[in-house]
Amino acid sequence: MIDLHCHTTHSDGTQSPAELLQEAQECGLTALAVTDHDTFGGFEEAAGSQPPAGLDLIQGIELTTRRDRYAVHVLGYFLNGPPSIRFQQRLRELLEQRGDRNIRLVRKLQDLGLDITLEEVRALGRHMTGRPHFAQVLVAKGYVRTYDEAFARYLNEDGAAYVVRDAPSVADGIGWIRQGGGLPSLAHPIRLRLSNEEEYIGQLANAGLQAVEVYHSDHGLADRARYQAIADRYGLAASGGSDYHGTIKPNVKLGSQKVDVAVLERLREIASKA
Ligand code: AMP
Ligand code: FE
Ligand code: FE
Ligand code: ZN
Repeated sequence: MIDLHCHTTHSDGTQSPAELLQEAQECGLTALAVTDHDTFGGFEEAAGSQPPAGLDLIQGIELTTRRDRYAVHVLGYFLNGPPSIRFQQRLRELLEQRGDRNIRLVRKLQDLGLDITLEEVRALGRHMTGRPHFAQVLVAKGYVRTYDEAFARYLNEDGAAYVVRDAPSVADGIGWIRQGGGLPSLAHPIRLRLSNEEEYIGQLANAGLQAVEVYHSDHGLADRARYQAIADRYGLAASGGSDYHGTIKPNVKLGSQKVDVAVLERLREIASKA
């Protein structure tokens, strides 16, 4: 059993890389891809900390890209090794765009009359500040009762405080991963809430996409079957993982998608042919 999608304290997860590795071992995973948002920091720390024997640790990332006013997440695998100067520069730009978004997001919350500062939100993230940290503050201060309510009322695309962030196009994100020698996979396509998802994924395949995340905590069995069929139609591979974020999303458990190692073998085969 493997898990190809999870987060650490280097982005919006609550577990350190070392804690994540220990949990991976405890739940019997044989392969784990660390896919923090817009950084290799979590993977690098994990790789440098003696991964347990028998655990295949895979370099991954989840890039933030944009389609109109929606964030689209593109997973990248097997970039293997330190990123190029060019790629590092792109990650720095993503971080700056996130910082700018955070400033505008906190202002919009303040304009709505909420008592919240960027400092208190920043205090929750070890290395990066994301919307989940905003959600935690909104819960702690009693503005909403739950994390999900924070997104529904304030933070998601329909929320009152949503601000569109600057980010590369989806095609650019795919291209950067390919140029870096990696394999791009479209993360949790269900979240895109597309009416023409088949056509859209076909366009991304033309832009260089090589896989679709078929197995994900937000996907029911019917969703899995649909995304597998779309992947088959365009000659894309399947990827999959839990999208574990630790205690901040307590319902999502590491390894819970029970992805078979054959999925990883297929991805590696495709990446090696590129
Ligand atoms: P950010 O990159 O700061 O815009 O935050 C995006 C992150 O927020 C995602 O990676 C998820 O962890 C979380 N997130 C986004 N939308 C939702 C939602 N509707 N409900 C719960 N968590 C969400
Ligand atoms: Fe996240
Ligand atoms: Fe994501
Ligand atoms: Zn994720």
